[in-house]
Amino acid sequence: MIEVKPDIEFKKQLKRISNSSLNECMQCGTCSVVCSLAPDDKPFPRKEMIWAGWGLKDKLIGNTDIWLCHQCGECSTYCPRGVKPADVFSAVRELSYQHYAKPKFLGKILNDPKWLAVAILIPVLIISAILFMAGTLQIPEGPVNYSKFFPHAWLNISFTFLWLLSMGLGILGLRNFLSDMKKQNPEIKPTGSFLKNLFSIRKEIILHSNFNTCSAQKTRKTTHLLVFYGFILLLFVTVFAIYAAVTHKYPLAITNPFKIIGNIAAIMLFAGLAIMIANRIFNKKDFGNSTYTDWLLLISLFLLTVSGVIVEAARFLNWGSAYHLYFFHLICVWFIIIYLPFTKFGHLLFRVVAMVFASSINRKLK
Ligand code: SF4
Ligand code: SF4
Repeated sequence: MIEVKPDIEFKKQLKRISNSSLNECMQCGTCSVVCSLAPDDKPFPRKEMIWAGWGLKDKLIGNTDIWLCHQCGECSTYCPRGVKPADVFSAVRELSYQHYAKPKFLGKILNDPKWLAVAILIPVLIISAILFMAGTLQIPEGPVNYSKFFPHAWLNISFTFLWLLSMGLGILGLRNFLSDMKKQNPEIKPTGSFLKNLFSIRKEIILHSNFNTCSAQKTRKTTHLLVFYGFILLLFVTVFAIYAAVTHKYPLAITNPFKIIGNIAAIMLFAGLAIMIANRIFNKKDFGNSTYTDWLLLISLFLLTVSGVIVEAARFLNWGSAYHLYFFHLICVWFIIIYLPFTKFGHLLFRVVAMVFASSINRKLK
């Protein structure tokens, strides 16, 4: 006997976030037919739509297929009832960040606009406290030198520690996610190690090849690759900057190759994000419903990129407001790297874990 456990509150949240009229789905299956990724064996998203209509949280949170979908929007385009399955999947993913967040309050404050002020206040207070302990909580005199404001050792140690702490908490949530996926597939025993299965999906991660099937959102693959590789390049440059700071070779000259790579990365991020934002504003028909979580990620990444360039210019041009801009830039950095497991940026982790799990149970996309 199968026990059905509807969660009405979950259904209400799904409806609110996706802006979808869930109960109007007539289970025609068109969405599963047009989905170019849905496997022949247990295709999606039709079955998930009935679960969403019934409020079956247990079947949707921890569902591998929800993360194999890459939000191309094709199913929403062809749905004869306008129920928008792509947006429903996106809403389930959004609720998953909150569900698996540890501690829970971080998931709450980063996925609900009511708590935005608190989400901003946390890094403001913690960074101020670090500057206070370093004895530099004031605007330094003389030419702009950010290390006089936030000494490199304090910056590198505190941010590395906070990032590791955040990722450690993220891994706890991902372990629960993995365990839920296993519970939902009790009949299949996963095979191979995590690393072996990760290696098997390398092509998809490197090339985003599943995005090739998007016909409704043609720019999706290009914009994702620009942002993905722009961000990776920035991380690479940041690691070098930490090394340069430790070996007293910082700040870098504008002609330094790593500085040039950093600026190329900023251009890639800027271009990718500008197109993504424009698509969400001007092409709602193809790009679907945009939620608070979508905007929080896009705007945080955009502000991080723009403020990084401005902070660099402020140092070379000795602007009086350079340190205020630098402080703002650090808040943006916090929103992206320290809040990562609790915001939509966490899809980097959740999606990879789901793809690795899918590989381990031999669940192949079309
Ligand atoms: S979501 Fe739309 S296309 Fe999919 S089964 Fe329901 S009515 Fe049909
Ligand atoms: S959004 Fe695209 S990948 Fe996701 S279920 Fe719909 S058609 Fe499939």
